[in-house]
Amino acid sequence: MDRDWVNRSACRGLDPTIFYPATEEEAEEAKAVCAVCPVQEDCLEHAIGNREHNGVWGGATERERQRIIRRRRRLRAMGAPTDGVGAEVLGVGAR
Ligand code: SF4
Repeated sequence: MDRDWVNRSACRGLDPTIFYPATEEEAEEAKAVCAVCPVQEDCLEHAIGNREHNGVWGGATERERQRIIRRRRRLRAMGAPTDGVGAEVLGVGAR
Protein backbone atom coordinates (compact mmCIF):
# COMPACT_ATOMS: atom_id res chain seq x y z
CA MET A 1 0.00 0.00 0.00
CA ASP A 2 1.20 3.48 -0.88
CA ARG A 3 2.28 5.24 2.30
CA ASP A 4 3.23 8.60 0.77
CA TRP A 5 0.29 10.12 2.59
CA VAL A 6 2.18 9.71 5.86
CA ASN A 7 4.59 12.45 4.80
CA ARG A 8 1.69 14.89 4.40
CA SER A 9 0.06 14.15 7.74
CA ALA A 10 -0.91 16.92 10.14
CA CYS A 11 0.44 14.88 13.05
CA ARG A 12 3.93 14.62 11.64
CA GLY A 13 6.34 15.83 14.31
CA LEU A 14 3.67 16.09 17.01
CA ASP A 15 3.84 14.21 20.28
CA PRO A 16 2.44 10.79 19.32
CA THR A 17 1.10 10.16 22.81
CA ILE A 18 -1.91 12.41 22.15
CA PHE A 19 -3.00 9.88 19.52
CA TYR A 20 -3.04 7.11 22.12
CA PRO A 21 -5.40 8.46 24.77
CA ALA A 22 -6.22 6.39 27.82
CA THR A 23 -9.96 6.74 27.24
CA GLU A 24 -12.31 7.55 24.36
CA GLU A 25 -13.20 10.80 26.10
CA GLU A 26 -9.57 11.94 26.02
CA ALA A 27 -9.37 11.57 22.25
CA GLU A 28 -10.59 15.09 21.45
CA GLU A 29 -7.14 16.65 21.12
CA ALA A 30 -6.09 14.05 18.57
CA LYS A 31 -9.40 14.30 16.73
CA ALA A 32 -8.95 18.06 16.41
CA VAL A 33 -5.63 17.50 14.62
CA CYS A 34 -7.14 14.81 12.41
CA ALA A 35 -10.04 17.09 11.47
CA VAL A 36 -7.68 19.42 9.60
CA CYS A 37 -5.37 16.73 8.27
CA PRO A 38 -5.19 16.55 4.45
CA VAL A 39 -4.73 12.79 4.50
CA GLN A 40 -7.41 11.89 7.01
CA GLU A 41 -9.28 9.52 4.71
CA ASP A 42 -6.09 7.66 3.70
CA CYS A 43 -5.21 7.31 7.37
CA LEU A 44 -8.65 6.03 8.34
CA GLU A 45 -8.69 3.47 5.52
CA HIS A 46 -5.17 2.36 6.41
CA ALA A 47 -6.20 1.79 10.03
CA ILE A 48 -9.34 -0.08 9.04
CA GLY A 49 -7.55 -2.14 6.41
CA ASN A 50 -4.75 -3.08 8.77
CA ARG A 51 -6.96 -3.60 11.81
CA GLU A 52 -5.10 -1.06 13.90
CA HIS A 53 -6.31 -1.76 17.40
CA ASN A 54 -4.93 1.18 19.30
CA GLY A 55 -5.02 4.90 19.00
CA VAL A 56 -6.81 7.54 16.98
CA TRP A 57 -6.40 7.11 13.22
CA GLY A 58 -8.16 9.23 10.64
CA GLY A 59 -10.13 10.95 13.37
CA ALA A 60 -11.61 7.72 14.69
CA THR A 61 -10.98 5.90 17.91
CA GLU A 62 -10.72 2.12 18.07
CA ARG A 63 -14.39 1.89 19.08
CA GLU A 64 -15.46 4.14 16.19
CA ARG A 65 -13.41 2.13 13.70
CA GLN A 66 -15.00 -1.07 14.95
CA ARG A 67 -18.41 0.51 14.39
CA ILE A 68 -17.46 1.43 10.81
CA ILE A 69 -16.16 -2.08 10.14
CA ARG A 70 -19.37 -3.68 11.47
CA ARG A 71 -21.57 -1.36 9.40
CA ARG A 72 -19.58 -2.03 6.23
CA ARG A 73 -19.71 -5.78 6.90
CA ARG A 74 -23.49 -5.68 7.37
CA LEU A 75 -23.97 -3.67 4.17
CA ARG A 76 -21.71 -6.01 2.19
CA ALA A 77 -23.67 -9.00 3.46
CA MET A 78 -26.81 -7.35 2.10
CA GLY A 79 -25.11 -6.58 -1.20
CA ALA A 80 -25.40 -2.87 -0.55
CA PRO A 81 -22.69 -0.32 -1.33
CA THR A 82 -20.45 0.79 1.53
CA ASP A 83 -19.51 4.11 -0.04
CA GLY A 84 -19.46 6.87 2.51
CA VAL A 85 -19.61 4.60 5.55
CA GLY A 86 -17.04 6.13 7.85
CA ALA A 87 -17.36 9.60 6.37
CA GLU A 88 -19.06 10.76 9.56
CA VAL A 89 -15.70 10.86 11.34
CA LEU A 90 -13.91 12.76 8.60
CA GLY A 91 -13.28 16.40 9.41
CA VAL A 92 -14.25 19.28 7.19
CA GLY A 93 -10.60 19.76 6.20
CA ALA A 94 -10.33 16.29 4.76
CA ARG A 95 -11.86 17.04 1.36
S1 SF4 B 1 -5.69 11.68 10.24
FE1 SF4 B 1 -4.86 12.11 12.25
S2 SF4 B 1 -3.62 10.34 12.82
FE2 SF4 B 1 -4.02 10.23 10.62
S3 SF4 B 1 -2.28 11.17 9.63
FE3 SF4 B 1 -3.81 12.77 9.89
S4 SF4 B 1 -3.39 13.75 11.86
FE4 SF4 B 1 -2.26 11.81 11.80
